[in-house]
Amino acid sequence: MTTVKSKIRAGTIFLFSLLLISGGIGIYYLVQLKNDAKAILANNYESVEYCQRLLSSIDSLAIDREKSIAAIKANVKAQDKNVTEPGEKELTASLAESLKIIDSPDYTTENILSIKNKIREIIRLNMAAIETKNKKAEATAEKALRYLTIIATVIFIIAITFSYNFPFIITNPIRKLTEAIRQIEEKNYKYRIQLEQKDEFGQMANAYNSMAARLEYFESSNLNKILFEKSRAEAVINSLQDASIGIDDKNRILFANDQALQLLGLQSGDIVGHSADDLKSENDLFRFLMEDKSQAPFKIVVSNRENYFNKEILDIRQKDGSGNKMIIIKNITSFKELDVAKTNFIATISHELKTPLASSDFGLKLLEDERIGTLSGEQLNIINHLKDDNKRMLKILSELLNMAQVESGKIEIRTETVDPAVIVSQAIDTIEKAAEETNIRIETINESNTTVKGDHEKLIWVLNNFLSNAVKFSPREGMILIRIKSDDKNLVMSVEDEGPGIEHGYINHIFTRYFKAPGNTQPGNGLGLAISKDFIEAMNGSIKAENKSGHGAVFSFRIPLAQGS
Ligand code: ADP
Repeated sequence: MTTVKSKIRAGTIFLFSLLLISGGIGIYYLVQLKNDAKAILANNYESVEYCQRLLSSIDSLAIDREKSIAAIKANVKAQDKNVTEPGEKELTASLAESLKIIDSPDYTTENILSIKNKIREIIRLNMAAIETKNKKAEATAEKALRYLTIIATVIFIIAITFSYNFPFIITNPIRKLTEAIRQIEEKNYKYRIQLEQKDEFGQMANAYNSMAARLEYFESSNLNKILFEKSRAEAVINSLQDASIGIDDKNRILFANDQALQLLGLQSGDIVGHSADDLKSENDLFRFLMEDKSQAPFKIVVSNRENYFNKEILDIRQKDGSGNKMIIIKNITSFKELDVAKTNFIATISHELKTPLASSDFGLKLLEDERIGTLSGEQLNIINHLKDDNKRMLKILSELLNMAQVESGKIEIRTETVDPAVIVSQAIDTIEKAAEETNIRIETINESNTTVKGDHEKLIWVLNNFLSNAVKFSPREGMILIRIKSDDKNLVMSVEDEGPGIEHGYINHIFTRYFKAPGNTQPGNGLGLAISKDFIEAMNGSIKAENKSGHGAVFSFRIPLAQGS
């Protein structure tokens, strides 16, 4: 298998071989040139040298004959050994022959001339050879230059091509891998690297491709799971009878079931994925659902019929701390209708019972009258009990009637200017007898001399309710304090007792209809305070229950002062 390492090694060896080839060829031609020059030097230049020396020795025969003859002989001998050119051997032999006369008496000037001519002929022969060989050397040099130029050019082109292309062997796969990793980063698990090579990069591409295939598998199985969960959640949400809208922590609508879409009068596409703030500005009902903080039921006309709803906003905390919200809108029309029917029923029954009770009360009063007949002490006792029972029943009926009035929204408030002191004295009148039975004192501290704006009868009713509760819960010989205070705008009337007070956890429930604190054995139906609250609020006031720091409860109401008081 070709590895990247062996590719780099092969590339380097290849470049090095090119270098060796060009160097070898250069060396080869240099050696050839050197040989040519050496041949010229040894073969011809030396012969020319010998001949030159022969000529000068001949010329110096007259000066020093002995030495010149010795030099001539030595040079002829040397020339004879250095015969290289065609015809040179014969010429040298003929010269040697001719030179023999130098010692003989045949020595003439013509002979010398002929000898010199032979020497010059040898010189000319060698000079001609030098010229030929020089030309040959020049041709060799030119050839070397040409070949070296061609080879250098070829090597240069190959080296450039190689060094340009070789890095791609490494950078190409790295580039492909970088791109592939980026695709994974962008969750494109379908991306694969196409690399045919079998080297380390090929292995790396295979490893990447199998990783991407696994990721793709996980992604698709996870996606399937998520899609399944989503459709299950959608099915559950759509099967809910109550309209439900989900909002994420970035205030985007996550879902809205069919019931919610029907109420809002929108399509799923208009709402899901949109910003809740945008939707608030476009849809009145949605704005009301998001902004209304009260728990009170509200009316919506659905299919030309008034329907009553109440809403609940659930906070759904995620594991990462982010909070989603779910608005649930419950259709309570059927309960409301039942409630109205119940209220009407109570109102009718109370009204119908009031007349016979009043007449039986009248009958009992007649029985007490001695003109009708004298009753025994025992009989009078029974009649008194019956009168008490009648009174209690009349009180219950009056509360039930008031409640029915309140619930049906038909409270009639007759606003007038009322003197608080009158309210207090009339309320005390009705409760005095019951207070006396257990020696309870009722005291009044009036720190105000203003009048208030309210319904005289209903204020007496409320204060009476406070007082009768206070008498019920006060210990024997306890004290009840009625306090009247006012500021610039309001009057506060409070009733303090020395009873057990209200258990802390129930203080917020005390004004709820039919509420009785657990363990409370006192008679009562838990309606008095609820009706008092509705009466006082209908007079634009507010009602409050507190515990005294020591022992006992304080019930108070605050109502506006009459104008100009
Ligand atoms: P009830 O007619 O049953 O007294 P109320 O609405 O007047 O109904 O009172 C509701 C409940 O509030 C009572 O059942 C009692 O538990 C509590 N409560 C009212 N007044 C007092 C008080 N003065 N001291 C302690 N608890 C009281």
